[in-house]
Amino acid sequence: MKPNSRAAQHWIPFNQQRAECRLCPRHCRPKQNRKGFCGVRGTENGEIRTFNYGQSLAATEEIIETEAVNHFSPSARILSMGNVGCMMACSFCQNWETSQIKHLDTKSIRHYTPEQLVSLCLENNIPIISWTYNDPVVWHEFVIETSQLAQKNGIKTLYKSAFYIEKSPVEELIDCIDIFSLSLKSLNAEFYQKQTKAKLQPVLDRIQQVAASSRHLELSQLVIPELNDQNQDIEQTIDWIIQHVGINVPLHFVAFHPAYQYTHVERTPLNTLKRARALAHAKGMKYVYLGNAYESDLNDTLCSNCHIPLVKRYGLHADVQNLDSQSHCTQCGTLSPIINPLLAIQYPENHQQTFSQQLEIHWDNEVQSTHILQTKHQEKTDTLQIHSLGITHNQTKTLAQGLDRFIISRRSESETGVIIRWNSECNYQSLVVLDRAHYPVEPLGKIIVKTE
Ligand code: SF4
Repeated sequence: MKPNSRAAQHWIPFNQQRAECRLCPRHCRPKQNRKGFCGVRGTENGEIRTFNYGQSLAATEEIIETEAVNHFSPSARILSMGNVGCMMACSFCQNWETSQIKHLDTKSIRHYTPEQLVSLCLENNIPIISWTYNDPVVWHEFVIETSQLAQKNGIKTLYKSAFYIEKSPVEELIDCIDIFSLSLKSLNAEFYQKQTKAKLQPVLDRIQQVAASSRHLELSQLVIPELNDQNQDIEQTIDWIIQHVGINVPLHFVAFHPAYQYTHVERTPLNTLKRARALAHAKGMKYVYLGNAYESDLNDTLCSNCHIPLVKRYGLHADVQNLDSQSHCTQCGTLSPIINPLLAIQYPENHQQTFSQQLEIHWDNEVQSTHILQTKHQEKTDTLQIHSLGITHNQTKTLAQGLDRFIISRRSESETGVIIRWNSECNYQSLVVLDRAHYPVEPLGKIIVKTE
């Protein structure tokens, strides 16, 4: 990371040489020239400064479902932005290579300005910026400035977070963030203390703060074998949500993959997620979805009146089928909970027959989504054809300069893989995405790829 720092908000003087950071409930008081717990804010000349303004992982085009958001513009393209550091230290972190600063490989870091990100969205027709991956709390100033600029340019903003943050910065976020996807790890205070190094109550208070606003909110819980997967754990979460947020908030139970310090268990079984959903339905929750789960008919949104599918989903793919632009069921006219349902841009098919290079990816139980990374950089716009294997589907994708990473995800059980073809001097690599909002930094050894 570049050593330069910027003035930070949300701190108070502590003594002549030190200050107390008030961005998150940890209230660090770093000594002169030292950082706080997150590793990206610290003290210089008696002031708290931010050391990661605009310093980011590569901007990545994904789809809104990667962020556990199902009721806002299904299948919309998002520009996912993640920085480094975190105000928590979850033993099971799914993005530990970038959230835990001591493990960071600085060659992954780029530098963006708010203006560059807004331009990237406009040039690539991406309607939403998503603050995601590690946790956006710890680059608050950059998130606020960029989100304000994005909204002025007609771009929506999405905030995916574990939400260990103070009240005052959340007030600023509510002013400039359209969509909140917040993760609640457990309702057990001891769990938070031991497994995340954070406290439960501030997270609950901040979720209620957003719920009381007019902003769109969805909640998720990572279901981790042996940690929070028992009925009692899940029922506590459901009961709190029903009492404090309501039965209409979309709730996502998300499968965990072994990571960081928690690797002695297997990936969360699908039946565990189904059990959690049955408990939530039995208690009255209306919209319960299962994350990191690839199965047909598992996550559809049905009309509450006539029960036809309004949105069909498979994995990260969503297909709006029976909604008009005002979100009414086209069969019976009932208003659905889906906001702005027809925002997604469909890619055209490409009928060009000759391509000089290709990358082939085969799906299996572990490899069902991947980031495609441009490893040899483009001089200008590059155009790719994405050809499905096992089903009839082709699409054309154009990358404008500055955007060199995007997600591809399995479209159906019948799709066995994809072939990506291009004609330029660029080159592309596949990095397997193990979970929603996972930012892979290295290829998996077992992925099957081929370039010609
Ligand atoms: S944001 Fe960072 S420096 Fe500030 S209190 Fe939280 S962990 Fe400490």
